[in-house]
Amino acid sequence: MVYDFHTHTSLSDGDLSPIEMVRRAVVNGYSTIALTDHAAVGDMQRIIPEIIQVCSMARNYWKILAIPGIELTHVPAQAIAETAKKAKDLGAWIVVVHGETIVEPVEKGTNLAALNSPHVDILAHPGLLTPEEAKLAAEKNIFLEISARKGHSLTNGHVAKLALKAGVRLLVDSDAHTDGDLLTDDFASAVARGAGLEDTACNQVLKGNPDSLAKKIISRYLATSI
Ligand SMILES: [Zn+2]
Ligand SMILES: [Zn+2]
Repeated sequence: MVYDFHTHTSLSDGDLSPIEMVRRAVVNGYSTIALTDHAAVGDMQRIIPEIIQVCSMARNYWKILAIPGIELTHVPAQAIAETAKKAKDLGAWIVVVHGETIVEPVEKGTNLAALNSPHVDILAHPGLLTPEEAKLAAEKNIFLEISARKGHSLTNGHVAKLALKAGVRLLVDSDAHTDGDLLTDDFASAVARGAGLEDTACNQVLKGNPDSLAKKIISRYLATSI
């Protein structure tokens, strides 16, 4: 079973419509997919309601936990907390923050701002994560991402090393922008191993951690309807 909490659709810069992305995920053996299109502020009002409807339809008719989310991308660091709250108020079940990847000029301070926001669930591709940031992620119970995406994945080994030392929970996400980017069991496992994770850690990152996040989301948003 594949879990993936970070994907993009035609609502931002992905190739596929949201429902086709979920359909392709079902065919790839996914148990869980979060649709997390890029947004900053005004665009959240457009994107989140559409994603909510698509995810609801997919959950009703297909065997997949489709999660409406958002990826706050290039939001000024000082505005991340208020924007993350707004995303949750608009109905996002999961908020990912586009972290300080080394391949884009993400504002310095973005990682820290994300880790200090109670409305952020995942800090994606945090780049040259510091030991202080890793410690904060562990304290705040925010997941850090091992990325399957080209470029962002350059610092996976560094992130994994610091995260393991600090006791942070890691996830492998595709950051898919097209169907060919979606994970399979084998590819997710290869990405985790490529980050330097050994057997026990791989199992935790590929099954234990995503399962606990999925369960948290189910109990928060779906417990009364299942
Ligand atoms: Zn991103
Ligand atoms: Zn992304």
